[in-house]
Amino acid sequence: MSDILETIASRDPWEREFYQAVKEVVESVQPVLDRLPFARESSVLDRIIEPERVVTFRVPWMDDRGKVRTHRGYLVEMNSAIGPFKGGLRFHPSVNQSILKFLAFEQVFKNALTTLPLGGGAGGSDFEPKGKSDDEVMRFCQSFMRELFRHVGPHTDIPGGDIGVGAREVGYLFGAYKKFTNEFSGALTGKGLRWGGSLFRPEAAGYGCVYFAAEMLASRNMSLEDQVCLVSGSGNVAQHTAEKLIQLGAKVVTLSDSSGHIYDADGIGAEKLRYVKMLKNIRRGRIRDYADKYPASVFTPADAQEGRNPLWSHRADCAFPCATQNEIGETDAYTLINNNIKLVCEGANMPCSSEAIDIFLGKKILFAPGKAANAGGVSVSGLEMTQNAGVVRWPREEVDMRLQQIMKSIHANCVSYGEADGFVNYVRGANIAGFVKVADAMLAQGCV
Ligand code: NAP
Repeated sequence: MSDILETIASRDPWEREFYQAVKEVVESVQPVLDRLPFARESSVLDRIIEPERVVTFRVPWMDDRGKVRTHRGYLVEMNSAIGPFKGGLRFHPSVNQSILKFLAFEQVFKNALTTLPLGGGAGGSDFEPKGKSDDEVMRFCQSFMRELFRHVGPHTDIPGGDIGVGAREVGYLFGAYKKFTNEFSGALTGKGLRWGGSLFRPEAAGYGCVYFAAEMLASRNMSLEDQVCLVSGSGNVAQHTAEKLIQLGAKVVTLSDSSGHIYDADGIGAEKLRYVKMLKNIRRGRIRDYADKYPASVFTPADAQEGRNPLWSHRADCAFPCATQNEIGETDAYTLINNNIKLVCEGANMPCSSEAIDIFLGKKILFAPGKAANAGGVSVSGLEMTQNAGVVRWPREEVDMRLQQIMKSIHANCVSYGEADGFVNYVRGANIAGFVKVADAMLAQGCV
């Protein structure tokens, strides 16, 4: 088994995030493979860790001063055993092949858990939309799609949003796709409500994350009411995680962006959250402005040298990391445990380091991996595809009801594969449940 990890480490030693994601899955599924010699002989795991296809391409675009800039675009098509490739597009300066391979790899197992027929993929660019004008973002999106349109489509690969790709970017990308292909089809998800989008898609990842946390707490006869919650990030997932937590009676005390975090001991209620949405989605401002607007709160700048994230040092019952990968390290995990945290539920993809996860599992707190807890986003994207294919539009209540059912079923699946000696290891449960489904389809489809 460690041969696989050694191969990755020696073949692509710089792909640290991808290695981290694969290691977790390999460790979880080893006992399953030991019982299935046929799966081992068919090298199903060796095949799962190799993308079906990786495309990199040049994305030249012109800024507002007439200067031509060049970025790198990527598309990672990881696995299509159970359906067309589906994953997010990320625009962020940190984007590289390792990050997109890790996202695509996680997406394979996440999509398998949703019960929908979706394979896994991811794409993006090292382009930074922050600080760019709308016209610059549009020109970049059009140039990005000038290559991407050759590889995506409603039956091959259906990208959606991720960090840096929200409603504005999906709009420009979809407009360009339509122009280049001369067809109006559901080749992207996260579309606007008046042109093929699903009601409830923006809320789905965050709300789904909270539904999953509520299921976990219910298994220990607890609820979210009156729980003090730490939420990181202030983008799509963080905003909607906070919103559902507030609706269920929890008290959210933090939010963040890459410049730092705010702590509001009085709680970020519905009205304050409306301000955050306006600040982030319309004014495209920074979270520190929250502390100017609400002087009882405190802004703490991020310090990359610190080796820990001070957001996680506030006392709370539950933690929802919703910003980015590896934002909770070993020191943060010990701090949370020392403060008697009861639950950590990953809204982002892989926000906890391997060491942090081991600490949470060792202390037997409730810990949900992103591939299970944030699967609500891709689930409603799948429902958007279903509505596009049937040329129908379901009411908000129906999409919410279907999302709640999917999150309950993912929870039940994690419990059935992850429970041992009265403790549910949701990491193992999610990895095995996803792996069994994908491996089964790959074995049935032969050596392709
Ligand atoms: P988003 O709307 O772009 O928000 C991202 C947030 O994270 C922003 O507050 C951003 O701050 C912060 N952030 C990004 N990179 C950071 C870094 N290196 N250090 C500190 N803060 C950073 O993105 P999102 O859609 O909410 O995605 C957040 C996470 O959820 C990602 O891991 C994504 O893969 C995952 N996810 C998203 C969806 C979805 O449907 N959108 C579904 C499932 C999972 P700045 O504004 O300062 O950059």
